[in-house]
Amino acid sequence: MFISVRVSYLYCFLATCCYLCSMLANKNQERTSLAKLGEFGLINHLTEHFKIYSSSTQKGIGDDAAVISSSDKELLITTDLLIEGVHFDLSYMPLKHLGYKAVMVNLSDVYAMNGAAEQITVSIAVSNRFPLEALEELYAGIQLACDTYKVDLIGGDTTSSTKGMLISVTAIGKAKKEDVVYRNGAKATDLIVVSGDLGAAYLGLQVLEREKQVFQVDPKNQPDLDAYTYLIERQLKPEARKDVTELLKELEVKPTSMIDISDGLSSEIMHICSQSKLGCKIYEEKLPLDPQVIATSEEFNMDSTMIALSGGEDYELLFTVPIADFDKIKANPHLSIIGHMVEENQGMNLVTRANQEMELKAQGWNSFEE
Ligand code: ADP
Ligand code: MG
Repeated sequence: MFISVRVSYLYCFLATCCYLCSMLANKNQERTSLAKLGEFGLINHLTEHFKIYSSSTQKGIGDDAAVISSSDKELLITTDLLIEGVHFDLSYMPLKHLGYKAVMVNLSDVYAMNGAAEQITVSIAVSNRFPLEALEELYAGIQLACDTYKVDLIGGDTTSSTKGMLISVTAIGKAKKEDVVYRNGAKATDLIVVSGDLGAAYLGLQVLEREKQVFQVDPKNQPDLDAYTYLIERQLKPEARKDVTELLKELEVKPTSMIDISDGLSSEIMHICSQSKLGCKIYEEKLPLDPQVIATSEEFNMDSTMIALSGGEDYELLFTVPIADFDKIKANPHLSIIGHMVEENQGMNLVTRANQEMELKAQGWNSFEE
């Protein structure tokens, strides 16, 4: 199943600005105070329409702990914490998209282990600036993600914050012991493969930041975002590549190592290299770029190769396969062979279009950098 949802984000952007401004400023929107429902009423209200998909979910929301039946498979558990002002900006991130994305970033980690995601928990902290309607939007996005990817919301926690919103999602998945793919299994001569294309989410963020500045100066100025729809979609509505793990099974390819691209290709391939004790060669001309990435990089005076290497938030899968699998991968439109592993002493390099080797640098996202 290849998931391709192309929505018009032009409308979305405008609607977002208007929706949030009015919601937070109490204009034209229903605004129900969270205090009115109480904690249990709120949890029940937000979660009552979620379905259960997985037979391993014995008990979801409503007891002291959720109950998942265990099996002979390995359990995969991963968590991400998102903080308003650090990881997302509600002036252009619709809450529904935020809910969806918060689930995606976690499912992506389960798929990067070659597992199947089955359950999530969602914990939120919100200040009294948020009415019930805002949380309904957030949970609509979470529910869409659960329904699309067939995962069960089985619990979480709800609390207040003095300022802003925090959202933490934990995903739980499973894989047969022999199917789990770690970062440390690559072999020298393995091919390096990436799904989809790179750099679009980063440029989407640049476009949204620019339009936010324009909007702040002149709210009547309606942005023309036609040229950037794919970029904005990749930033606001990323999809975790469940389809790629399924495709690899169909092709009978088991990666020797795998990681998802949250921080940018450079820093992710460096994780595979260091954990597998190898080096790599990545070929600039092989990097998959959408035409909008090429055009918009030029417009922003940025180098599209740098963006593909360091952009981040692509949520594509980066993996290595034995060279013997070349024929199974080479013609697939969803997969690009971008290089190969080498011995550790050869280092980690980018081979440019001019056939020069440049050392790869991790310029990925680092939360502790100034
Ligand atoms: P406890 O007091 O045992 O921590 P809570 O009152 O926090 O229980 O939660 C009651 C039930 O609702 C539990 O099953 C919990 O997992 C679930 N829950 C709490 N907050 C959320 C949330 N934000 N999203 C989904 N489920 C939640
Ligand atoms: Mg609790």
